[in-house]
Amino acid sequence: MDIKLGMKKAITVVIGGGLAGLAAAGTLSRHGQKVVLIESKGKIGGRATSFVDSASGDLIDNCQHVSMKCCTNLQYFCEEIGIGHYIKDEPSMFWRTPDGKTSLFKGVQLPAPLHFAKSFLGAHFLNWNEKIRLSLGMGLLRLTKEEEDAPFLEWLANHFQSQRCIERFWAPVLISALNTPMEKVGLHYARKVFVDVFWKNSKAYQLGLPVVPLSRLYGEEVISWLKKTGVEIRFGNAVKTVGLKSDSSWEVLLDNSEVINADNIVVAVPFQRVADLLGPIAHLDPAIGMLQGLRTAPITSVHLWFDRPITDLPHVVLLDSIGQWLFSRGKNEQGEYYYQVVISSSAELLKSGHDAVLKTVMAELPGFFADVAKAQLIRGRVVSEKQATFESSYGVDEFRPLQTTQIKGLYLAGDYTQTGWPATMEGAVRSGYLAAERILENEGKRVRCLQPDMR
Ligand SMILES: Cc1cc2nc3c(=O)[nH]c(=O)nc-3n(C[C@H](O)[C@H](O)[C@H](O)COP(=O)(O)OP(=O)(O)OC[C@H]3O[C@@H](n4cnc5c(N)ncnc54)[C@H](O)[C@@H]3O)c2cc1C
Repeated sequence: MDIKLGMKKAITVVIGGGLAGLAAAGTLSRHGQKVVLIESKGKIGGRATSFVDSASGDLIDNCQHVSMKCCTNLQYFCEEIGIGHYIKDEPSMFWRTPDGKTSLFKGVQLPAPLHFAKSFLGAHFLNWNEKIRLSLGMGLLRLTKEEEDAPFLEWLANHFQSQRCIERFWAPVLISALNTPMEKVGLHYARKVFVDVFWKNSKAYQLGLPVVPLSRLYGEEVISWLKKTGVEIRFGNAVKTVGLKSDSSWEVLLDNSEVINADNIVVAVPFQRVADLLGPIAHLDPAIGMLQGLRTAPITSVHLWFDRPITDLPHVVLLDSIGQWLFSRGKNEQGEYYYQVVISSSAELLKSGHDAVLKTVMAELPGFFADVAKAQLIRGRVVSEKQATFESSYGVDEFRPLQTTQIKGLYLAGDYTQTGWPATMEGAVRSGYLAAERILENEGKRVRCLQPDMR
């Protein structure tokens, strides 16, 4: 197919149907652009995806995805499409130790951060010395400047934080939020997590958990919405290369040899694929070469099906454990009770192999949930996304490009671009909105697509 350049509407080809590409495509189309979205797989959603578990026939997520109330762009994206009701707010967090004791973290009606004072002071897993140290540490972190960065472990050691404060509080939060080992976490993103989640707004910490599989959440309704806004979607064809023509327009070559002409392209593929896709053009912007500096970390999810419930809680932060979080995923049609244990930054653990991971998780769980001892594990399955996200390590922003490039008509979108956020669904949507803003701006339309942060 060769789409001819229209006289009025600029044509933008968005390459990649993950959240970044979807946000960019829908927004541009809504603002009058002709948009063609090309996704190599047969479905949208990118890394936020599900697959059919052959044993049960259930559609299960590659990994539980969690958002928070402070993810204002993801929320806007879902509400605009009409899929917001598939994400349930969870105003409580449960922190559990291997002796089965639980502390509830729930905000009360006080301004942040006082909304958490009662829960924090009552937390069974911290002693008074640790509570004083942590309060001090949180206060001092709040006082750092947003642009400051430093190895965070060093910062913690220099700001009264003991090893147990790190193990019982800082690490569980940051490893899950950043998918980065503690020794690599930088002050900048650690500050962002704590300030955005605990300090800015008393509702910001509330979790958003999808009540349908991710492929359903980012599925038919999103496709219908895109089509309604005028986006032409092409599934199952990868873009092989893109070419810059002498008149500064673009030629997008698909793997079935079709060519699509465009005024702008938004490359919304994972950062590891960007340079290959652009070929020799990549050298025209040093920021694309800098992507080599980004490092990735795996996330492992352990899927467990029991013959009976092991807990009534919807989700539990697991302390002193290899698993960081357990999610209850309900009862399936076969009457099995399905749970997921999520292990972020799992590189070290994976060296022992999936069987060993399953065994370790199963050995740890009875301490946390006494009912595991009575329950029969029907099936266990370990899924690792080896390059789940980039690591939000110290200094990482040096390697994250803007959505605009030095090459006319070429834009980047993806969680890895400069969004101010770590690798998250919120970051991906932000990047799509930012790319759309820049394209529209270039065409003389000043439109604010990015949604305001929670205050
Ligand atoms: C295991 C795991 C757990 C996670 N947990 C969370 C969580 O709890 N909360 C959270 O906020 N985030 C989480 N994330 C991160 C989140 O999923 C990502 O940040 C986000 O989905 C990235 O979106 P993206 O659009 O930037 O990239 P992607 O989702 O990677 O999308 C890129 C798209 O480009 C397509 N593509 C690639 N090459 C081509 C080509 N040549 N032609 C056409 N299409 C192409 C791909 O098929 C893909 O659909 C998790 C990620 C993983 C892997």
